Amino acid sequence: MANKDLRVCIIGGGPAGLSAAMYLEKKGYENYVVYEKLNRVGGKCYSPLIEVTHNGVTEKKSFETGAIMGAITYHAVHEMEEFGGYHHCGPYWKEKEPNMRREFRKVTGEVYEPFNPKTDFSLRKVKGLLKLKKQMKKLNKLMQTKYVGYDCYGHLRIAEGKYYGISKGVEGYCGATKENSFPNYIEGVNENLKDLALPFSEFCKKNKVSEVMRIWIAPFTSFGYGYFDEIPASLVMKYLDVTTALEFVKMGLWTWPEGTQQIYEHVNKKLKHPAVLETEVVKVERPEGKVIVTIRDKEGKESVETFDRLLVTTPLDHFKDFADATEEEKELFSKIVHEKYCDYIATFEPGMSPDISGYMVDNMVPERLGHAMVYYNRWQYLGRDCPCTVYALRNHTGDPDVSYEDTMRMMDEDMSKVGFPIKEKLYAQEVYYCPHVSCEDFASGWYDKLEALQGNKNTFYAGEIISFGDMEDTCAASKDIVGRFF
Ligand SMILES: Cc1cc2nc3c(=O)[nH]c(=O)nc-3n(C[C@H](O)[C@H](O)[C@H](O)COP(=O)(O)OP(=O)(O)OC[C@H]3O[C@@H](n4cnc5c(N)ncnc54)[C@H](O)[C@@H]3O)c2cc1C
Repeated sequence: MANKDLRVCIIGGGPAGLSAAMYLEKKGYENYVVYEKLNRVGGKCYSPLIEVTHNGVTEKKSFETGAIMGAITYHAVHEMEEFGGYHHCGPYWKEKEPNMRREFRKVTGEVYEPFNPKTDFSLRKVKGLLKLKKQMKKLNKLMQTKYVGYDCYGHLRIAEGKYYGISKGVEGYCGATKENSFPNYIEGVNENLKDLALPFSEFCKKNKVSEVMRIWIAPFTSFGYGYFDEIPASLVMKYLDVTTALEFVKMGLWTWPEGTQQIYEHVNKKLKHPAVLETEVVKVERPEGKVIVTIRDKEGKESVETFDRLLVTTPLDHFKDFADATEEEKELFSKIVHEKYCDYIATFEPGMSPDISGYMVDNMVPERLGHAMVYYNRWQYLGRDCPCTVYALRNHTGDPDVSYEDTMRMMDEDMSKVGFPIKEKLYAQEVYYCPHVSCEDFASGWYDKLEALQGNKNTFYAGEIISFGDMEDTCAASKDIVGRFF
């Protein structure tokens, strides 16, 4: 019989930490504390309000510095919405809602339509589109036949040619109902799944579907998740499973008018124990049977709390910096790498801001590291003087990083070149993004080694590393960890 009085410490008040708290409550555990070092919850879902003027009216609108969108496959996020009472718009856009419509722009500024045969009747283009369509269909079929089991959260057992996890199926996850959120798991053996450890580009080549990368690249690389020659196919297919990828193609996406941060603010308000803000976990010691946590408040005052269990949702490669990490933990977590994703919100010279969002696909290759890959005009109906967000990646395996300063400069230059000169940056950041391991470490069973550590020293690991660095995968990972271990 589980002891539901266990005192649980959750480090981090982002999507992973708050979903862990919610799922603990759903299972009857109410003796938990969430520590969040910032003065707000939501982590990388940060949606500041910015004043904009339209038709002579000045009002505050939400802008996204982090997460922007979801899709019908966002089951765990939907559970958070239901719990918090704050829901998305979409999947299809309505007037005055945040708009995900995008154009494609060459780095020279020219707009083109790579997937519209009507704009260019050349035989080459039509043939290319037919090939793409055929390969999309082929990949869809392969994922449902050759790669049965790929569409569950996490990467457990894939390196051994098996699968185990919560199904991502659209019909609700595998046995979950409104009354009982904790689903059954799917599991099985499928040697072919080992291919998911390959870099996505090799995976596509092996399956003779390389054309599909033309579709997958925009919502993957420009969203900061890395390049297809370095990221294990498993990560790509967990995030952009065929259903989600098709929703991108159809632009059937969810958005949140007050910003994704509000999903988590609302959940936090409904929790029995809202996150303790401006409180950083600065030390963790785990003697036999206990977890002793030192916290520092905003005045710099330190105090010590004792818990029975620890749930870590913050970057595991930084765990050793404040915790008594074991040699095994140090060794395993040292293999984690992350993307260095930069973005800023900027205003543009009068009348010269983008009127819709845009992809710059030519910049989504390692040779163009540090260049602007996408710009997001969230409030298209407000016209051309609205601020937009611009994004770039500054790292790629095997290449030297481009410095943050050079990245910011190159992003400005790129925007000018395509006709959108930046006037002022209102907010700029680089984030620790999409933690993962190399294809080699993936193939040698890194995720199963992490699984073997779950529960050691009363510690559980959740967050982006478990499955993928998006809201859905992080919330579902909490559901999985709470569901199986509590
Ligand atoms: C630019 C950008 C675009 C994105 N777009 C999308 C999108 O469109 N759709 C989507 O689904 N996802 C998107 N994401 C990803 C999504 O935001 C993240 O995957 C998600 O926020 C991860 O949640 P998390 O709780 O694991 O980590 P985080 O969000 O990073 O939260 C971790 C929290 O822990 C806190 N913390 C860290 N250390 C400590 C400590 N020692 N003590 C106390 N607190 C601590 C941090 O302050 C933070 O609040 C995007 C992210 C970015 C940056």
